[in-house]
Amino acid sequence: MKNIYFTVGPSQLFPTVRSHIKEAMELEIGSISHRGEQFANIFNGTIDLLKQFLSIPKDYHVFFQSCGTEAMERIIQNCVIKHSFHCVNGAFSKRFYEIALDLKKHARKLEVADGEGFDVSKIETPKTTEMICITQNETSTGCFFPMNDVYRLKEKYPQVLIALDIVSSAPYVDIDYRFVDCVFFSVQKGFGLPAGLGVLIASPRAIEKSFALQKKGVNMGSYHNFPTLIQYAKKGQAPETPNVLGIYLLNHVLQDMQKIGIQMIRSETEKKAGMIYTFLEQQKKYRPFIQETSLRSKTTIAVEVDGGSKQIIEKLKRKGCIVGAGYGKHHEDHIRIANFPAHTIEDIIYLLKCLNPKA
Ligand SMILES: *Cc1c(COP(=O)(O)O)cnc(C)c1O
Repeated sequence: MKNIYFTVGPSQLFPTVRSHIKEAMELEIGSISHRGEQFANIFNGTIDLLKQFLSIPKDYHVFFQSCGTEAMERIIQNCVIKHSFHCVNGAFSKRFYEIALDLKKHARKLEVADGEGFDVSKIETPKTTEMICITQNETSTGCFFPMNDVYRLKEKYPQVLIALDIVSSAPYVDIDYRFVDCVFFSVQKGFGLPAGLGVLIASPRAIEKSFALQKKGVNMGSYHNFPTLIQYAKKGQAPETPNVLGIYLLNHVLQDMQKIGIQMIRSETEKKAGMIYTFLEQQKKYRPFIQETSLRSKTTIAVEVDGGSKQIIEKLKRKGCIVGAGYGKHHEDHIRIANFPAHTIEDIIYLLKCLNPKA
């Protein structure tokens, strides 16, 4: 029996990935030059598709990274001289903050308990703040940061850059990119691809800031700083030998998703999330970790399990459903369920059947 991976990343592969990998082998994608025309077409085509599919403005830049974590580091290095501000409510938002500290920035944080959201009307950032860093979907706890709250922050601080981690909510989350400056994700979550590729979307203001840092002589890393990435992108290239196969596969999965349509993908995600939460509400043994319904993630769902999560994880595994354990201190008492475009309604029905204590 084949497993269904409801893990939050890596996760279930998008159903067409297998045939795209086969085709890539036939086209010898693993051997072509990353400085040639064939690759430039794949590179430019993938960026165009991303812009179309996610409604990214034409004057924004799209850079390839090795992973989501790399994007956090590059964003801080390229856009922050000294002062970043971080909304921290779990492990990934904390990592973003710690990366800024590791890079010797004066990082400040507003920290709330795991599973809680932020009252943006009460957020006050120091005057010196250059960038506000937000984890739009905190995967460790299944907490969602509503986009309207992001826009309100931008309206309150129009001069401050906004960085947004959408690693585990893309492509579901609908973003008006005019209000945000650095947005990033990696492909092993919602895009249903093997790991090893990240995508960083940068606004003209973010790019401008990176040139200002360069002029000032601030250390902004080497081969993956924004000015260098832009210089190579003009030729349809990356500075390094990039993940050519990963970019090729993203290109093809984007074409497949575009055929389905982003609206359909979004409404199906909501429908499946509704099925999962409705089921959880009816069960004594399970509780969604996030109390406030408007903050409940539609794509990564954290569930508290009475009596611990180990038994149910093993029971599900025997039935071919792989779910994640809780993150960090929640390891023993949570399970986490991914609800990505690769998960069909039938997959969710099967999972809920297996989760039912009476089954
Ligand atoms: C998985 C994840 C990351 C890290 O991404 P990598 O590609 O593993 O580096 C960062 N932020 C969030 C919210 C995540 O879910």
